[in-house]
Formats: sequence, C-alpha cells, structure tokens
Amino acid sequence: MSLQGAYDDTNIFARIIRGEIPSVPIFEDDDVLAFMDAFPQSRGHCLMISKTSRARNILDVEPEVLAVLSAAVQRLARAVRKALVPDGIVVTQFNGAPAGQTVFHLHIHVIPRWEGQTLGRHAGGMADIAELKSTADMIRAALD
Ligand code: 5GP
Repeated sequence: MSLQGAYDDTNIFARIIRGEIPSVPIFEDDDVLAFMDAFPQSRGHCLMISKTSRARNILDVEPEVLAVLSAAVQRLARAVRKALVPDGIVVTQFNGAPAGQTVFHLHIHVIPRWEGQTLGRHAGGMADIAELKSTADMIRAALD
C-alpha cells in the first residue's frame, strides 16, 4: 500500500486491539497498547500503537495522538533499557510499503540492540510465545 488510501479495519493490529487475535501485551490504557512483535528482529522487539486513531502512518495521525504515542514510546523504551540492559535501542516506524511498512495501522518499533549481535530480518521468523511472555513480564515490571 502506498501513502494514499483508506484505513482498513481488518488490518492485524486493529484485530489485536479488538481482541480478535491474540498478542503478548506489555501494557495498555485507553489510548495506547504496547505489545511484543511476533516476528522480532532482536530479543525484546516490541511495538506501540494507538487504540483510538485510524491513522495508517505518521502522515495521517492526529498531532495530539502522536504526542500521547510518543510519550508512551519513551516510557516503553526506558522500561526496555531497565529490563534488558541493551547497548542501544532503535526507535523506528515505516510509512508505505516501499518504505518497509507491512501493517497499515501506525506503529512504532522499539528494538533493543547489543554490541556484536546482528539484527534479525524485518518481519522474519516467528518468536517462541513463552519467551515473548517472559520478556514482556520483564519489561512490564520495569515500567515507571
Ligand atoms: P511494519 O513492517 O509494518 O513496520 O511492522 C509490522 C511489524 O508487525 C513487523 O515487525 C512484524 O514482525 C509484526 N507483526 C506482523 N504480524 C504480527 C502479528 O500477528 N502479531 C504481532 N505481535 N506482530 C506482528
């Protein structure tokens, strides 16, 4: 999907918000949901989404929603730092399929990095769910 087009209610993250398909959540409130990426590029790779906006990407999103989302991403990244002690953290998002976007509900990636460890393929192999749950527990326990 290009940068033009309509929001599709059947996208996978909309279905996760509605509870139609399972996810491994870290935290949620009325505005945002943080959950583990099912095809992680590193241990602790997680995602932050708005539960209220129908933005497909950062160009669509309401500025006030982006402000809430950004603060939540910072809180999540701080918890990842505390829980997993990475050497670095990538915070990123993609806009449009040619830019690498595969799910068209705005989301921010938080990807911990360790010296000497190569990054896994984007949307590559599926994670072990028990491992995702235990990592999510660690990150949740580290939230301020
Ligand atoms: P994008 O490519 O759109 O920036 O990122 C989409 C992300 O969603 C990818 O990192 C991919 O691994 C992840 N993903 C795709 N399908 C699912 C799913 O069903 N559950 C979860 N938790 N993550 C998913």
